Amino acid sequence: MMLTALKHAQLRISRLDRTVITAVVLLSSVFPVELFPNTLPASKGLDGQYSGKQGQVLVVKVQGEEQATEVKGTFLSRTIPFFREFRPGEPTGYIGLLGIDMQDDPGTHELAVEVKQGEQAKQLSFNILVAKEKFAVEHLNLPKEKVDLDEKAVARWKAEQEQVKEALTENSRLKLWHSNFLEPVNGKRTGIFGSVRIMNGKPRNPHNGEDIGAPMGADVAASNDGVVRLTVDHVFSGKGVFVDHGLGFYTMYFHLSEVLVKDGDLVTAGQIIGKVGATGRATGPHLHWGVKLNGARVNPYSLLDLPFKNGTSHANSIATPMPETPSVPEVVPIKQ
Ligand SMILES: [Zn+2]
Repeated sequence: MMLTALKHAQLRISRLDRTVITAVVLLSSVFPVELFPNTLPASKGLDGQYSGKQGQVLVVKVQGEEQATEVKGTFLSRTIPFFREFRPGEPTGYIGLLGIDMQDDPGTHELAVEVKQGEQAKQLSFNILVAKEKFAVEHLNLPKEKVDLDEKAVARWKAEQEQVKEALTENSRLKLWHSNFLEPVNGKRTGIFGSVRIMNGKPRNPHNGEDIGAPMGADVAASNDGVVRLTVDHVFSGKGVFVDHGLGFYTMYFHLSEVLVKDGDLVTAGQIIGKVGATGRATGPHLHWGVKLNGARVNPYSLLDLPFKNGTSHANSIATPMPETPSVPEVVPIKQ
């Protein structure tokens, strides 16, 4: 008898436990703030809002954090390091360069920022409105062997992709650039960043950089200070240079006829690193200028608008204003 009574009591308690747990769970979803004042994050987007188009770079500011040991953002699974920036007449704070990838989904996404101060961490949340960019459609007719790769060429291309991926994972944790970014070559911008490419009638990957038409052998300058992370001679990009500017910021220069730097070289803004060519998959001399910013493929020309104007300018920088919507010929004879 005693045993049965005890069992009944245990059963009642366990039922009571379940009821209490269920009530807490239900209540916490209805009154989350009152029940758990310290565990829930602030509403999304509470700390501000930024907007930009696919392929653009946004300058995000976090103000008033004097003693932070680390400031880091997360946007669509990409990590955005923030750096200290002093600007005359502006409150002190940190700046993060957020690249909107050319294929990020349009709509509102959260940029979550963590500000660490020793053991303590503060969370901030920004809304990022991504607007759709109208990319051009390019119809290209190239020799069949340049488009449809045989097995051997596919294997080579895959190995090259791996080599680049590996080299770009070791990005410098320091900010290496000190001044404004420069256009790397004096030439004609074709405006085909992000264009949808139809080669010999078949859709291909979108064009992930900007092509600048320039004469064979023209000087190609580094867009900014950095370290040469990789020099290559690849099936599509031809002879190319990858410059690491620090904090996950890379610029790339492809189809060169000559590479004048080697892996590990330190370069300064405007330094000549190669010559314009038509190596790799190109049908005429031009520079393919690409940018990767914390994993996002952004329009290199968006770098020229970044507010780092305190450095020295260079003879290679071009003052010609660029059209807002560049005219794109239906068939562009130069490509990567
Ligand atoms: Zn290109």
